[in-house]
Amino acid sequence: MTTVAAIGTPHGKGGVAMVRVSGESAFEVASRVFAPSSPKKFSEFPHGVACYGSFTDKKGIFDDGICILFRAPHSFTGENICELYCHGGLLVTKRLLAACLASGAVMAGAGEFTRRAFINGKISLTQAEAIGGIIDSVSEKHLEISARQANGSLSRSLASIYDELKLLAASVYAYIDYPDEDMTDVSIEEMRERLSEIKSKLLRLSGSHTYGRAISEGVVTAIVGKPNTGKSSLLNSLCGEERAIVTDIAGTTRDVVTETVHLGDVILRLSDTAGIRESEDTVEKIGIERSIKAISDAALVLAVFDMSRPIDDDDKRLIESIFELGKESKTVCILNKSDIANEFCHKLPFERTVTVSALNNEGLDSLVETVSMMFGAGEIGENDEIVVNARQAAAVDKALSAVSSALDALDGFTQDIAGMDIELALAAIAEADGRSVSEDIVNEIFSHFCVGK
Ligand code: GDP
Repeated sequence: MTTVAAIGTPHGKGGVAMVRVSGESAFEVASRVFAPSSPKKFSEFPHGVACYGSFTDKKGIFDDGICILFRAPHSFTGENICELYCHGGLLVTKRLLAACLASGAVMAGAGEFTRRAFINGKISLTQAEAIGGIIDSVSEKHLEISARQANGSLSRSLASIYDELKLLAASVYAYIDYPDEDMTDVSIEEMRERLSEIKSKLLRLSGSHTYGRAISEGVVTAIVGKPNTGKSSLLNSLCGEERAIVTDIAGTTRDVVTETVHLGDVILRLSDTAGIRESEDTVEKIGIERSIKAISDAALVLAVFDMSRPIDDDDKRLIESIFELGKESKTVCILNKSDIANEFCHKLPFERTVTVSALNNEGLDSLVETVSMMFGAGEIGENDEIVVNARQAAAVDKALSAVSSALDALDGFTQDIAGMDIELALAAIAEADGRSVSEDIVNEIFSHFCVGK
C-alpha cells in the first residue's frame, strides 16, 4: 500500500499540531523532513519514544519538534507510522505536510488511517465506528460507550454470539445428516434453549438502539402547537444555559441546521423545519400545515397547548393530525401556562401529558422524566452493550429475525430450515461486526471520518 500523510490535528492555531505518515516508506519520508538532534541514526530510533529534532524542507529548517516512530505491526494502522509534532500554526503545519508529500508520501483520504487499521485487521469495523463515535460524540454517555466499544466490547459480544451460532449450525447439520447416530454434542432440546438465549441477547442489543440513537444522533423532535401557546418559551427553558448548539456539518446526514437540547443523557434535535421559529409574516398562519411534515418526520412530538384558554378548533386540528399520522404514541402533550391556568382543565386524548409553565421553568422535570422513559436507558444496565450505530442495529435486527425463524423451524421439526436460518443469522452478525461487509459499505463508513483520522 502507498505511504500516506495527513494533518492529524484540527485545522487552526494551537500549541501543537501533528502530521501522521503511515505506510511502508513512512520512515524514509520522515527521515527526509526530520533531523534528530541526537547523533542516533533515524533507523535506530526506539519504538514509540519521542525524539526531539528539527523539521526541514528544501528551503531549510522551518521549525523544531518531536518525532515518534511506531514499527509495523505494532501501530494503529499495523503499518510503519511516523508522527511528527510541530508548533501548531496554520502555515508551519501545512509546510510540514507539504514536505512529507514532497518526500514520497501521498495525501491520505478521509478516514484513511482508520481504514488501514481495519484492513490490516488491527480493529474490527465496530471498533472503527466507535472511534468515529469518540470524535463525533457530544454527550458524555455517547463518549463513554464509544470509548468502551473502541476497545472492542461490542465486537467481543458479537463474536461470542457468532461462535455460539457457528457451533449450533454445525450441530444442526450433523443432526440432519446422521439423525440416528449420536453425532452431535447438542440435542435438539438444548439447541432450542441455546437459540432462545441468543435470541434474548439479540433482543437486548436491538432494544438498546433507541437509547443508543438518542444519546448519539439525538431524537428528531418537533415542537408543535398553534401560535402563542409557548413553543419558543418551552425551547428556551429546555435549552437553559446551553441554548442551541448549532451543528452544520457539511456532507453528513446531519446536514440540517439543528437546535440541540440535552435532557439528561438524551439529546433532542429540534430541526429548523419544526416551526419553532415563526417569523412575523407566518405568525398569523395557524402553522398546522407546516407542522404536518415536522410531525411525520419526528420521533418525538412535543404538542403544546395553552392551559389558560379553552381548546379551540386549531388545537383540535393539531390533535387530529397527530392521530392521523399515527404519532400519538410518540407524542407528549404539554399543557403550558400552568401559572395562569384557570377553569379550563384540559383532558386531551394522549397517553402522556405533562403540565408546565415554560415562563417560570416549572414542571420541566416531569417532561425530562417522560422523555427519559421514552428514550432513556430504561432496563439497560451500566455495563450492558448499547448499539449506537444504525448500520449495526439493522444487522442485529436481521440476525434477530433469522434466529426467531430458526426457533420456529425447530419447533416444526424442520431442522434443515433451522440450519439455513442459523446461517443467515451468522451472516448478519458477520455484517454487524464487519467481517463480511461490501467494499461500498466500508467506503461509505470511512467517508464520514475526517482527513487525518
Ligand atoms: P409560541 O408562539 O408558541 O412560540 O409562543 P411564545 O413562546 O412566543 O409565547 C407566547 C406568549 O406566551 C409570550 O408572551 C410568552 O411570554 C407567554 N408564555 C409562554 N409560556 C408561558 C407560561 O408558562 N406562562 C405564562 N403566563 N405565559 C407564557
